Amino acid sequence: MEMMAGGYDTRDILRPLVFRLHENVPAIVREVLLERGWTEFDKKEQDDADWNLYWRNSPFRMTDHHSIKPWQRLNHYPEAVRITRKDYLARHLKRMKGAYGSTLYEFSPVAFIMPNDYVKFIAEYSKERHSVGRRPSYWICKPVDLSRGRGIIIFQDIKDLVYDCTVIVQKYISNPLLISGYKLDLRLYVCVTSFCPLTIYTYDEGLVRFATEKFDLDSLDNVYAHLTNTSINKYGASYKKYKEGIGCGCKWTFSKFRSYLRIFGVDDMVLWQKINNIVILTLLAVTPLPVASNCFELFGFDILIDDKFKPWLLEVNYNPALCLDCSIDDTVKRKLLHDVVELLNYKQIDTYRQNQVAGLKTSRRQVPWSTAGQSATEHTPGLLTCQKVAKCTSAYSVQPALQAARGSIRKAATLTKKTVSMHPRKTLTSQLRERMNMPKIPSQAKAEAKNKQMPGAGHSPPKSAQLSHWLPTPDFCNYKLTTPPYFLSDKDQRPIPRVGDFVLIFPFNEAALQASRDGTDIKSIIKEINKLVSKQLPSKQQNRKKRIGYLTSV
Ligand code: ADP
Repeated sequence: MEMMAGGYDTRDILRPLVFRLHENVPAIVREVLLERGWTEFDKKEQDDADWNLYWRNSPFRMTDHHSIKPWQRLNHYPEAVRITRKDYLARHLKRMKGAYGSTLYEFSPVAFIMPNDYVKFIAEYSKERHSVGRRPSYWICKPVDLSRGRGIIIFQDIKDLVYDCTVIVQKYISNPLLISGYKLDLRLYVCVTSFCPLTIYTYDEGLVRFATEKFDLDSLDNVYAHLTNTSINKYGASYKKYKEGIGCGCKWTFSKFRSYLRIFGVDDMVLWQKINNIVILTLLAVTPLPVASNCFELFGFDILIDDKFKPWLLEVNYNPALCLDCSIDDTVKRKLLHDVVELLNYKQIDTYRQNQVAGLKTSRRQVPWSTAGQSATEHTPGLLTCQKVAKCTSAYSVQPALQAARGSIRKAATLTKKTVSMHPRKTLTSQLRERMNMPKIPSQAKAEAKNKQMPGAGHSPPKSAQLSHWLPTPDFCNYKLTTPPYFLSDKDQRPIPRVGDFVLIFPFNEAALQASRDGTDIKSIIKEINKLVSKQLPSKQQNRKKRIGYLTSV
């Protein structure tokens, strides 16, 4: 056993980070965390709060949010389902279209929620049928709370529309971009580290998912030609076969797709800017969500590109699939998860977990809670609405976590009794805690407690310096929280512009940042996006037009 000068086992001091998994979490999450030197939470041996990351496939209970500790992160926000259920998303986007104009919000295909919108749908359907010279649209009907392509039908004639649950009937994009005749869509990973102030990262790498049979509007019931879900296509007869222009299987990486586009003179930067705008505008539609400390949400945005290179939002996935169907999945998803953990910005101090309780229990992120529209009357830690944050927390002093934590270690001796009575259970952790609470703190331990990131958790230097100039001064969001939110850098208290392959896309300038302070000022943000959009007009439109024909025919 390695001992330190003060009689400490170094393993007590340099403790690993601990993850906690709920049932059915994909194996790769455990693998990645073990690869990073984390250990798995053991209910029998450890205290309830003795973990750093809790990952579930389903929403957390409100009590989990209320009892969150500074060293912990949860992989879901409360009410993230507002954006991930197809009918909720359609409703939010329709509202935004009404409020801010259809030009900006015309990235989602027109949708009707059935049976509620049945009359409206019939009116639209009949109008199209009766307008001379207009080809009737194709429609896609999707159960609102199913995923993986289950229960989907595509139709042109209303007599083929059948449903026995709540569904959305959406305009079918019948002119998708095809590569060698195959339809494709993009699975874009988006990580929201905060809904207030809105802080959004998109992942540079991702998956292009192909249908495995050639697109054909004369065979609407051929799921292998019209749906790009891997869960469907992996059972298709052509999945394993070599498909000209595509290869075997049904996936490409974004990198391969973007190089492919460039070969044909398509400005992939413009396309990606449009996609980023879709992500921001979609997330704005569900803002404000009740704000919760120390959460993050990894969304999977499904984007379809049409033959005019217009990206369309099909849906937003809660728990995007993390199963490994092929080597491309392994490459993309493993790195993605490593980068998610990087984004969570753990510090050495987070490994102390329960040992922090003694010194920090009165000075941590204690924020009052209310759900959207309710007034925050009670001071319950964990959640609050965006508008309330600044007001409700302004009374708290800014006290960096690490300073407090260091203080807690120093003060530990005097607090031993109190801590023990708070945690009467004699677990491995409580024994360690008692030992940690011994009066002598070796100097090396103090040094470790400094604001230091976990080994291997260092942020990669920003690839692009472009983003850093706009960020504001350190009074970011007037957040007078006791500890700066984990997604702000220690250096300047600003969101980190790039972490691994995650790129900060919101806030994208000073004005957008200002508008997301003190409650989200959506109007001002939309104004900024409008300015951005007008600057982003495609530079190679003429070229593009010439080349599209070729691209879609190869
Ligand atoms: P699910 O949650 O069941 O995967 P999606 O909305 O993602 O439902 O749809 C599944 C697939 O169907 C998509 O990946 C895409 O290939 C196709 N699809 C869905 N909506 C449309 C649409 N409006 N136009 C064209 N294709 C669509």
